[in-house]
Amino acid sequence: MPMSLIQPAFRVHIDYDKCHKCGRCVQQCGWSVYTFNGRPFPDDSRCRACHRCVTYCPAHCISIQKNELALRENPNWMPGLRQNIWRQAESGGVMLTGMGNDKPYLSIFDHLVLDACQVTNPSIDPLREPMELRTYLGCKPDRVEVEPNGRGGFRVRPGTGLEKNVRLDTPIMFSPMSYGSVSLNVHKSLAMAAERCGILMNTGEGGLHADLYPYQDNVIVQVASGRFGVNPEYLNRGVAIEIKVGQGAKPGIGGHLPGEKINREVSVTRMIPQGTDAISPAPHHDIYSIEDLKQLIYSLKEASGYKPVGVKIATVHNVAAIASGIVRAGADYVYLDGFKGGTGAAPSIIRDHIGIPIEIAIAAVDTRLRAEGIRNRASIVAAGSIRSSADLAKAIALGADAVAIGSATLMALGCHLCQGCHTGNCSWGLTTQKPELTRRVDPEWGAERLTNLVHAWSHELQEILGALGVNAVESLRGSRERLRAVGLDAQTCEILDVKPAGR
Ligand code: SF4
Ligand code: SF4
Ligand code: SF4
Repeated sequence: MPMSLIQPAFRVHIDYDKCHKCGRCVQQCGWSVYTFNGRPFPDDSRCRACHRCVTYCPAHCISIQKNELALRENPNWMPGLRQNIWRQAESGGVMLTGMGNDKPYLSIFDHLVLDACQVTNPSIDPLREPMELRTYLGCKPDRVEVEPNGRGGFRVRPGTGLEKNVRLDTPIMFSPMSYGSVSLNVHKSLAMAAERCGILMNTGEGGLHADLYPYQDNVIVQVASGRFGVNPEYLNRGVAIEIKVGQGAKPGIGGHLPGEKINREVSVTRMIPQGTDAISPAPHHDIYSIEDLKQLIYSLKEASGYKPVGVKIATVHNVAAIASGIVRAGADYVYLDGFKGGTGAAPSIIRDHIGIPIEIAIAAVDTRLRAEGIRNRASIVAAGSIRSSADLAKAIALGADAVAIGSATLMALGCHLCQGCHTGNCSWGLTTQKPELTRRVDPEWGAERLTNLVHAWSHELQEILGALGVNAVESLRGSRERLRAVGLDAQTCEILDVKPAGR
């Protein structure tokens, strides 16, 4: 076999003076990096820097280092581009990857700062005063009507009819991740944590495993183009239904779950043949216009007793017009998935080069819906690399009602962002269906970590609200005057409708 030109990306270094020769690293590595012959021997070329072995080595004697090969500098032909050409010259195939965009695009969130009260407008101490994080997704009344109550006082009631809403005790949801792309134990962890936090998890492309039925009041069921697992019972189990049109990591293309991940249980849950690749087509074959989308929204409402229906789209150039059409088609929320959103598997060329940042999309959509007088008809959920409670607060200030987090939840469960999800070998037992790996996640342990994460971000959000002098997350929504830009150009500030710092 001809020699590969690809050099290992990482070097596995073992300090054999400290090594106990226990073999635990051999068991822990999902990518079979190690062989054991009296002591562990690593094959560097297989290592993905997932750090499972490093974490579990009792002697702390393993280190993973970048393989710093000195290539001649060429800012045009960066080392990654050269590696990709060698790789594709060997494989002739599309390069797949997992997790989110890793290109050094500007992070707009990192160039926005929040306001705080000083002197004349008092801040609020969230430890001493109530702070409301609860929010509702769905159509809100446009106005309230005030009328005499006959006893000398007034009665206030919604001026327009109340639609079914979905309650979130804190403005965070778990992003869609299908059973198949992640393990059942990950789904159970998410469902249990969603119930404890009063929030929602999402089935991803469909199929709801029977073990999750007890948590169905905290589950959004998704209808994707492949219609995996979709039947009337499935639709009626979720608290809301989500039509997946697009995904931030791979706008405009369909999904692909490799056959190795379709075991018997995944096959039953998703209603697809065992061992065959699950391909979701790029388009829904019954949606070619906003009218078609409207038809599907109302079919799903009709089939589910008029549950809220959301529509998830990838953020692309004309996202504001698309969102406007979705709201006019009757959706209760629009889920915007930015171009840094995670994925279980995507062509790296699509993931890294298609779509627009979530910050721009939130602002553009919120502005458009306000301008058209339809902002109250639907909520905005923002996703695509929400990394901290600061990103959460800034997303809400830009106009989102709530955010969805996916990569952060996997990181809470151990993920080290090695980008190998598509291989099914995840050492942390997350994006795999191999029983010897999936059992590494105890759902009780996972639920506790996810609950801690959501509680921690919620506490931090309360601190931020207090500093801003507002006592409800609803008061922050769309308050772009509480944001300032640092180091963003004038055009970006104009689109965001955010002033530069100092003004
Ligand atoms: S886990 Fe650590 S101590 Fe055990 S064999 Fe591997 S390197 Fe040595
Ligand atoms: S792939 Fe992960 S577990 Fe395996 S050697 Fe590399 S860091 Fe260790
Ligand atoms: S989920 Fe697993 S395979 Fe995917 S990036 Fe994280 S550690 Fe790697």
